[in-house]
Amino acid sequence: TTETGAELITKVEVLPNFIPREKFAHKGDFGYALIIGGSYGKIGAVTLAARAALGSGAGLVTAYIPKCGYTVLQTAFPEAMVITDSHEEKITDINFDIKPNVIGVGVGLGTDEATIAAFETFLKTNKTPLVIDADGLNILSKKKNLLKYLPENSILTPHPKELERLIGTWENDFEKLDKVKAFTKKHQVILIIKGAYSVTVFNDKLYINTTGNPGLATAGSGDVLTGVITGLLAQGYHPSVAAIFGVYLHGTSADIAANQFGFQSLRASHVIEFLGDAFLDLF
Ligand code: AMP
Ligand code: MG
Repeated sequence: TTETGAELITKVEVLPNFIPREKFAHKGDFGYALIIGGSYGKIGAVTLAARAALGSGAGLVTAYIPKCGYTVLQTAFPEAMVITDSHEEKITDINFDIKPNVIGVGVGLGTDEATIAAFETFLKTNKTPLVIDADGLNILSKKKNLLKYLPENSILTPHPKELERLIGTWENDFEKLDKVKAFTKKHQVILIIKGAYSVTVFNDKLYINTTGNPGLATAGSGDVLTGVITGLLAQGYHPSVAAIFGVYLHGTSADIAANQFGFQSLRASHVIEFLGDAFLDLF
């Protein structure tokens, strides 16, 4: 840690937080993740996030999606369970009678008026820990009064454009980091500024990730990160650890995948497939 409150995250920092699996472990020990998102043409985002949640070790995963995604998701990802919204092409209800211990929301969600209304009602009643990404963040940016309903230590994962919508523009990196620190303090959340060297921000501190590569500059890689972090939360990692460890694992997986596919051909699915190697690389 430096006097600026910034810490570089390498294997040395993440390894002590790793929770090994016991011989007599049961899937119930690793939590139940729910991924809420998707709209017509964007069911893949939820599929990636749900697969990544199981890939990072969640015991069970359910996807909550519009009806049109049912067959797609069940076929592409048989390990997941699916709950469908009443609407064919977009989410308009967010009604479910399961008890997940973490919810990742926003990937592929869209920002239709009916979807925004459903998201608003959901936030006002929800008490389950959240990871919020993509259109979930875009809706929060449009309706900033909803920020007060976020459970403490919710994890927000904006890319630069989403961050700008959320906190406004900045003149330079110092101003950006100050604004993000103030935002996380005010709303009691953990925020990950995604990009090369993603920065996790909470408690006035910055955790700068050292893994990952330009192969991640590709469709769906952020959806995978959402799933990885949701999966880590499901199995009991503290939100601050899940955020930092998730970004590290996601980057490591991409680095291992890039050895095989190169930066150009790397796809988000590869990042999921190599999560196992990323875990093994810790030791
Ligand atoms: P999204 O824009 O939501 O798809 O998220 C992109 C993901 O890929 C984030 O986890 C970024 O940190 C990561 N990423 C994008 N570009 C790079 C890059 N040039 N180097 C390392 N990671 C990157
Ligand atoms: Mg994204």
